[in-house]
Amino acid sequence: MNAPLRPSAWGLLPDEWKPLCKELGLPPFRAAQIVTGLYQTFALSWNDITTLPAEWRERLSQAFDLAPLEIAHIQHAGDDVRKLLLRCQDGECVETVMIPSKGRLTQCISTQVGCNFRCAFCASGQRGCVRSLTAGEMVGQVMAACQLMRADQQAVGVPATDGAASRSPGTKPSLPRPGNIVVMGMGEPFDNYDNVLRALRILNDQKGINIGARHITLSTCGVVPGILRLAEEGIQFELSVSLHAPDDDLRSHLMPVNRRWPVAELITACRAYFEKTGRIVTFEYTLVKDLNDRPQHADALIRLLRGMPCKVNLIPLSPVEGFDGERPSDRDCLAFLDRLLKAKLATTLRKSRGKDVDAACGQLRLRTLA
Ligand code: SAH
Repeated sequence: MNAPLRPSAWGLLPDEWKPLCKELGLPPFRAAQIVTGLYQTFALSWNDITTLPAEWRERLSQAFDLAPLEIAHIQHAGDDVRKLLLRCQDGECVETVMIPSKGRLTQCISTQVGCNFRCAFCASGQRGCVRSLTAGEMVGQVMAACQLMRADQQAVGVPATDGAASRSPGTKPSLPRPGNIVVMGMGEPFDNYDNVLRALRILNDQKGINIGARHITLSTCGVVPGILRLAEEGIQFELSVSLHAPDDDLRSHLMPVNRRWPVAELITACRAYFEKTGRIVTFEYTLVKDLNDRPQHADALIRLLRGMPCKVNLIPLSPVEGFDGERPSDRDCLAFLDRLLKAKLATTLRKSRGKDVDAACGQLRLRTLA
């Protein structure tokens, strides 16, 4: 029989533990011990927080789940990229990808099981959205990665610095953690706005996982009200917008969301985001052979974005079943890049990482479900 579902301890902001302790009848100073246990000693169960009386560990374990999401499957790629399939308490699985680069780790996290938006080349939406993830499940993906990073460190002999008792107050957390978070896994973050924002605040919190806002990037398929709302949050998260086409005809063909919020409205919202936050928006543009990678597409993109403070990130298509588009040749990708650079658009061509682990959104889950 399955244990009843309990809320995840990872879904609470560090400052929420104090009032909660009061509610539960625990002295408020216990809140600091819980937060230290969660984020500094990286407890894997309530019993690991030995500063708490045994009776309270038991009571808390009945009220809150504390395990990171269960790692159901790990796929390794030649370039050190690891893609994890993680199992939630109710058995649903989500993907997260760990991408090492220049001594830092970027983690790509999911926000929903599946996706409602059905972009033509994205595997996540092929079966619709099963459900949105809770904040605890999103933070739980990061905790699962932290767990692996710690195992990696131990494997190469870096001493584990467990135990807050052995450190003086104010010491930096010992928990190895990703340097960057990109919300680019399965799901549309603005279709699960409140939970996503809560998760990102926990990841960003200095008493929590402590990842700077500028190291956290949200990617949207173009949900305009979400962009405008994020602009008002007063946090400088980085925003990426999946554009993929320079005009409404082509974009609506690739991304049904464009029928609801067309290109002009989307660009206006991106300008507003920049004006409000001072953060430059990045436009993601997946290159598909002959469909959106021709010189005329590059020129239309240049006209669309001219004069706007922004960056463009070109991503060669990662082929998926169910979409018959192909990845352009390296030469065509470079030609597209050159055209944009010559027009003074800040553009990068992303080297696809983790290609051999089906690292594009939703591919691992689909393969495992099949
Ligand atoms: N829903 C959000 C975040 C998830 S998708 C969004 O749409 O932005 C993250 C990025 O991967 C998006 O830019 C998406 O269009 C892109 N993507 C999805 N499938 C892909 C594929 N097969 N090849 C290349 N990029 C893909």
